[in-house]
Amino acid sequence: MIVLRANRLYTPQEEIHDPLVFIDDSVITEVSSRVRREIPKNATEIDLTHDFAAAILAPGFVDVHMHGGAGLDVMRASAADLPNLNKFLTTHGVTGYFPTTVAAPLDQTCAALGRLANAIEAVQASHASNGAVQALPLGIHLEGPFLSHKRRGVHPPENLLEPTLEIFERLWQAARGQVRMMTIAPELPGAIEVIAEAARRKVCVSIGHSDAVVEAARAGVRAGARHATHTFNAMRPLDHRDPGILGEVLTDGQITADIIADGIHVAPEIVKLFLNAKGKDGSVLITDATAAAGMPDGTYQLGPILVEVKDGRCTLDGKLAGSVLTMDRAVRNIARFAGWSLQDAVRAATLNPARVVGLKKCGVITEGAEANLVLMSSAGEVLKTMVRGQGF
Ligand SMILES: [Zn+2]
Repeated sequence: MIVLRANRLYTPQEEIHDPLVFIDDSVITEVSSRVRREIPKNATEIDLTHDFAAAILAPGFVDVHMHGGAGLDVMRASAADLPNLNKFLTTHGVTGYFPTTVAAPLDQTCAALGRLANAIEAVQASHASNGAVQALPLGIHLEGPFLSHKRRGVHPPENLLEPTLEIFERLWQAARGQVRMMTIAPELPGAIEVIAEAARRKVCVSIGHSDAVVEAARAGVRAGARHATHTFNAMRPLDHRDPGILGEVLTDGQITADIIADGIHVAPEIVKLFLNAKGKDGSVLITDATAAAGMPDGTYQLGPILVEVKDGRCTLDGKLAGSVLTMDRAVRNIARFAGWSLQDAVRAATLNPARVVGLKKCGVITEGAEANLVLMSSAGEVLKTMVRGQGF
C-alpha cells in the first residue's frame, strides 16, 4: 500500500487540507486528513509536503476531444507509436482521453476505429500499470461523419455523410462498441433516429458542427443528445432574434458543453460568457489538439488532411483546424479569463468531463477511483502525474 501525504488536495468538489491518499495497487482505497488518521506501519509513505510544500493534489485531467500530440495523429498512429503520445499527455496532467476521429473515407475511418479499439481493449484488460506512466485511451469520440456541410470547419466535404442507422452500425462494429461520444449535427435528415439509437447504447451524443435553428437543436436534445461540442466553433452564430443551436446550448441546464479555451478559438470574454452560462457543473474543457501539440511550427497530419501550424494557430486554407492547446494550459486560461478559482477550473478538466461520458472511476479523488492524479503548483503548473498508482 502507498500513502501520499500532501498539504492540499482537490477532490475536486472539496478542498482537503493535510490530506492522506491511500492507494492499493492502482486504486484509491481511502482519502483522509492527517488530523483524523495515522499512517499504518506497513505502508510506503510518499511525503510531498516538503519538496512540494505549496503544491496541490488533483485528479488527472480527462480530455474527451483530442486528435493527437507530440507529432502523432490518433487516426494514423500505430500501436508502437501510441505510447509516445500517451507519455506526452501525462506531462500536461492528462491521465485519460478519448481519441477523436476526423471525417475520413469510411474505410479509413473503420480501419482507424479498429486500431483504437485495440488500444482501449488493452487498457480494459489490465488494471495494473505496466510500470510506464502513460495516459490511458478510454473510449472513442466520433467527430463526424454526420456533420453539417455549412459548419464543417476543416472536415473534408466529400467525407461528410447523412446520418443513417446502417452507417452508425458499421462504425460501431468497426470500433467494437468502444464509441463513447459522438458529435452530430441534429438538423441533418436522419439525425434524430441516429441520436436516439446512439443514446440507447450509452454514447454521449454531443451536438455540434451544426447550423441548427433553436427548434432543431432542442429536438436533438429531446432525442437523447446531452452535450455540445466546442461551443461557438463550427456552430450557427448566436443572434438575438435567431438564437440557433447556441441559444439552446447556453440556456438549457439539462445539457453540458465543452469549449476550446486557448484564447484563439474563442475570445476570452466569450469563454467567460460560456462559463457563466454553463456554470461549475456544466462546463467542460477540451483541447481539440492535433499532432502539432508539443511540437514546433510546421505541417502536421490531422486525420485525412494536412494542417499548417504557425504561432500557436493550426489552420487549413485560413480556417482554424484543431489546436496546440494542452489541458493544463486550458485550466490556467479559464482561471485567468473568468476569474475562476484553480479548484473550479480543475473541476472543468476532471470531474465534469468524466461525468459527461460516464467514466465513474476517473476525474475524482475518492475511495474506489483509479489512482490517476496530478500534482500541480498553486499556479496550475503540472509537477508530477500518476497513472494507476505509478509515477510519483
Ligand atoms: Zn476536433
